[in-house]
Amino acid sequence: MITGSSQGIGRAIAYRLAQSGADIVINYRSNAAAAEEAKASIEALGRRCIAVQADVSKEEDVTRLFAEATKAFGPVAILVNNAGTTRDKLIIQMSLADFEHVMDTNLRAAFLCTKAALRGMMKARWGRIVNIASVAGLMGPAGQANYGASKAAIISLTLSTAREMASRNITSNALAPGFIPTELTSVVNEQQRQYMLDNTPLNRFGTTEEVAAAAAFLCSPEAGYITGQVLAVDGGMSIHM
Ligand code: NAP
Repeated sequence: MITGSSQGIGRAIAYRLAQSGADIVINYRSNAAAAEEAKASIEALGRRCIAVQADVSKEEDVTRLFAEATKAFGPVAILVNNAGTTRDKLIIQMSLADFEHVMDTNLRAAFLCTKAALRGMMKARWGRIVNIASVAGLMGPAGQANYGASKAAIISLTLSTAREMASRNITSNALAPGFIPTELTSVVNEQQRQYMLDNTPLNRFGTTEEVAAAAAFLCSPEAGYITGQVLAVDGGMSIHM
């Protein structure tokens, strides 16, 4: 199950995990047409796939999402907490609603989905959780107090999950992508893009496929001895920190 996988990074992760042989639960909040396209591309690989509308910041939606996933394929073995959003503003201009919306979408959702997935994983004594954090969670960017705080918190959630679940053979890791062109980053202006590029040693932006490859590795049998780690997929941006 990949939350927020109708487009962008989530969609690329879903496709990559399907290539590795997983049956896939696509989740989206509003864009049903994009989710159906993502589903069709996965089915074209010969994998089974369902697309489920659910706002993962809401507990009742998460309950329904996991019920539908379990009905289709059995307990969720791999969870990628990817759904995320931004509402960038300076703190003095940021409303409580801006803060809470981002925290709910990025952090509350990851907590709810992790909790829902763990029951089945504990029973199976196997599980993989990958949380999509961000370099923003490591660096505290100006204009992203809500987003950066949510991503820092996701990193801590990742570590707590790793500690609590290690005895059950469930791994929990985070990815911290740098700047990846998607709809989320389409609002970033030219000056900000140049600033990102200037601070990226590899001197280019990343691709959704590059993030997906790292996620697929962390979900693979070969990564069974890796837990509680944060892997930056950022062209070296975080070397500066
Ligand atoms: P994106 O293109 O905007 O895609 C976001 C996805 O999340 C969409 O499928 C959207 O579905 C879904 N979504 C949003 N809110 C949701 C909710 N409440 N419930 C269910 N689904 C929801 O974003 P992206 O760039 O691929 O980002 C994916 C993740 O990577 C996010 O966590 C983001 O913070 C993180 N990240 C991105 C970058 C970057 O540079 N792009 C860098 C670091 C980290 P609908 O369209 O149907 O609403």
